[in-house]
Amino acid sequence: AKAAGRNTVSFFDPTMQARVSARAALEADMRRALGNDEFVLHYQPLMSVDGTMAGVEALVRWKHPQRGLVPPAEFIPVAEESNLILPLGRWVMREAGSRLAQWSGDTRTAGLEIAVNVSAAQFHRPDFVEHVLEVLAQTGARADRLRLELTESLLLKDVEGTVGKMQQLRAAGVSFALDDFGTGYSSLSYLHRLPLDQLKIDRSFIWSAVKEDSGAAIVRIIVLLGKALNMSVLAEGVETQEQLNFVIAEGCQYYQGYIFSKPLPEPELLTIIAGL
Ligand code: C2E
Ligand code: CA
Ligand code: CA
Ligand code: CA
Repeated sequence: AKAAGRNTVSFFDPTMQARVSARAALEADMRRALGNDEFVLHYQPLMSVDGTMAGVEALVRWKHPQRGLVPPAEFIPVAEESNLILPLGRWVMREAGSRLAQWSGDTRTAGLEIAVNVSAAQFHRPDFVEHVLEVLAQTGARADRLRLELTESLLLKDVEGTVGKMQQLRAAGVSFALDDFGTGYSSLSYLHRLPLDQLKIDRSFIWSAVKEDSGAAIVRIIVLLGKALNMSVLAEGVETQEQLNFVIAEGCQYYQGYIFSKPLPEPELLTIIAGL
């Protein structure tokens, strides 16, 4: 790196160059994988505190021919920076729609909702609403079984436009959850304007809740907020009985986490459901 001044990025930094080419390689590999049908959805049960399964969250994985099952943390950020999130997001939506349609034929699965994670770039596309409605029509999935999980930063980008899109989808029966609540740039001033059905408390608060008073206070406040705004509240990342007892005592209606099940491939999910 030659004469790189303070606060300037050196384009000759070898470690940075290595990182850039590793990213380009990952991007190219993802492009190939999309054509090769290497992505798969796993499903994590969303449990009601009364012990019934209300639905599942669809979580994407990459079945890589060499690397095995790659978790989303390793490729979603790259997909988001490269626009590959658009074809990937469309694939996830279609796959979730197909599963919903298939599950509607069996009384054990017909009542389940599927919650799908939506990236900002995907949501803010002008044709997002149209695409979701098209997937529902083409797969025959019921709109009221589809829940979309949005993040705070996504919602804040364009509150007016966002509310409009949410209202159009809600009119068709789709519901919305606010994901990782509490970790983003929350602004209480916009929350009441958003047509949300559920707040998902980020797992960092569930973890600290049983260790620190401050964490417990945050969970308590989110539950009150959800009640005041007529939204259900789900606790994410519940791993221990102590955490579960706590979130139930605080009035959360739903939870998800390893205490009940990690995300599962569809056949394993159906086995669990059959045994309930
Ligand atoms: P998320 O939406 O917050 O999903 C929940 C994550 O928490 C999942 O990680 C899940 O496996 C994990 N989890 C669930 N219960 C527990 C628990 O009890 N303990 C712990 N330690 N973790 C738990 P996963 O599947 O690795 O997904 C990571 C993130 O990747 C997701 O976070 C989401 O932001 C993103 N993601 C996954 N699938 C998709 C997708 O189809 N589209 C988009 N845009 N993003 C996705
Ligand atoms: Ca989520
Ligand atoms: Ca989450
Ligand atoms: Ca998260």
